[in-house]
Amino acid sequence: MDLRERRSDEASPQSHPSPFRVEPLTDFSRAEARREMDAALAEVASQLGRTYWPIISGKSVPTATTFPSVDPSLKSRIVGVCGRANVEQANEAVAVAKAAFPAWRDTEAASRAEYLFRAAEAMRRRRFELAAWQVYECGKPRREADADMAESIDYCEFYGREMLRLAQPRRRDVPGEANVYFYEPRGVTVVIAPWNFPMAILCGMTVAALVTGNTVVMKPAEQSSVVGAKLMEVFQQAGLPPGVVAYLPGVGEEIGPALVEHPDVATIAFTGSRAVGLAIARGAAEVRAGQQHIKRAIAELGGKNAIVVDDDADMDEAVHGVVASAFGYSGQKCSACSRVIVPESLHDAFVARLVEAIRSLKIAPADDPGCSIGPVIDGEAQRRILAVIEKGKSEGRLVFVGEVGSFQDEGYYVPPHLFDDVAPSASIAQEEIFGPVLAVLKARDLDHALEIANGTAYALTGGFFSRSPQNIARVEREFRVGNLYINRKITGAFADRQPFGGFKMSGIGSKAGGPDYLLQFVLSSTITENTLRRGFAPDVEATESS
Ligand code: NAD
Repeated sequence: MDLRERRSDEASPQSHPSPFRVEPLTDFSRAEARREMDAALAEVASQLGRTYWPIISGKSVPTATTFPSVDPSLKSRIVGVCGRANVEQANEAVAVAKAAFPAWRDTEAASRAEYLFRAAEAMRRRRFELAAWQVYECGKPRREADADMAESIDYCEFYGREMLRLAQPRRRDVPGEANVYFYEPRGVTVVIAPWNFPMAILCGMTVAALVTGNTVVMKPAEQSSVVGAKLMEVFQQAGLPPGVVAYLPGVGEEIGPALVEHPDVATIAFTGSRAVGLAIARGAAEVRAGQQHIKRAIAELGGKNAIVVDDDADMDEAVHGVVASAFGYSGQKCSACSRVIVPESLHDAFVARLVEAIRSLKIAPADDPGCSIGPVIDGEAQRRILAVIEKGKSEGRLVFVGEVGSFQDEGYYVPPHLFDDVAPSASIAQEEIFGPVLAVLKARDLDHALEIANGTAYALTGGFFSRSPQNIARVEREFRVGNLYINRKITGAFADRQPFGGFKMSGIGSKAGGPDYLLQFVLSSTITENTLRRGFAPDVEATESS
């Protein structure tokens, strides 16, 4: 595309969609919504156990081995069986993505955005069904699964519009000189996602890479590979050209390094744990034979998020906000609250109310409409969290443990645990647990509370409950986290309204759902043309026709 074509980009008919609006969450107080969700769960239940192969170049690719994806609420239930891609298939997926790149790069930005808008439409049509797959595969209570679908739709709609904005070339012409600054895609992108927002995170990273003109190899987490297959179906329904995105289920330790280290990969978009994220950053930094570029690794990692309660806080609001932030989806959100910092003066009353609020949460299989706390993702997570709890008993006072019903051994349940009198340096106050475990820490005053709140290696989310404008202003300045929430829960960010992401050990990258996110997937170029003609270049066509 030359400078003149870049000018005509602006006139594209698709470049003016309606302004972005966050997709509303489903109101499950409406009987009709509950009926639709029940029907979707019943329909999906009849489809469990199918096999999902990798999809490369639009075709199913059988694998030598497979792995089952199990319902964490009911471990005897196989949600699906997934092809276990090997290194050879990972290399093939990268080769196909490389071959598809030039044509996709040169596809008009407005057309690429149009695919995202179509994907959003397909997700709206299948919203309850896709949420139902998450309920079964990831143990997500229905409201949380529905919110994940809304977020997935938001990423398609938001990044589509963001691309239209970025596609406008920036000009700085002066007499005799034309200058244009514009963006181009980086190349093959590997997307490696976690299971906890099984559709939204995989979708967000993938569509961001696609809409900016990159081709993608999409590697879902093992535990959410069926939901990943459903996202691939959505992309196919949206009509994305076959080579542009591949679906590659498999074991992270087996195919992850091959994808990260491949010399033809330009960008790695990763969301997951700190240990894997740091290994990816190292692997991506090394230049390998045949590699002619420096890779970019985007890594969104964990958190050890705190909510600080002020001594004048509205206790009802604070207790409610802490419980929702700590135990929503069993604490398996990177944004979850795992430390609550309360002033000594309020401590006893606050803890007493907190215990009663946690006691009121219903622990149940995720498909139960009344479920507040479902299972954790798998047996490994269950063992890891229980081991942390055991260690926690020597670090703090265990003041509450929830009770799981008779279904306890049918799934991977960990009841909510509340520890009190935890020292800021204790491991349960420093290390991410990723489960329903909350530590209460006492602070002498706001200085001390902020020192504790900022005193971990992470900086993802944080919260403050207060009625003092002065203290709120101070906390806004001094509580250093990526997303700070005042007088509300600290989970559930919406695209555009609350761009999301952290710093320190919480990751490196621009915030998801924010104005800078797509810039991570592009290169920028500047073209300068001297337009002062010193000779006359005859117009060939005009000369021939005269
Ligand atoms: P994980 O790191 O175990 O796995 C994430 C992905 O990496 C999976 O797809 C996995 O297969 C893959 N993987 C594993 N080993 C690999 C390797 N050696 N090379 C390449 N890929 C490899 O994380 P998880 O358990 O799926 O997710 C939970 C973590 O994710 C938590 O730490 C949580 O805080 C974090 N998280 C962060 C955000 C954020 O936006 N900051 C959002 C969600 C989750």
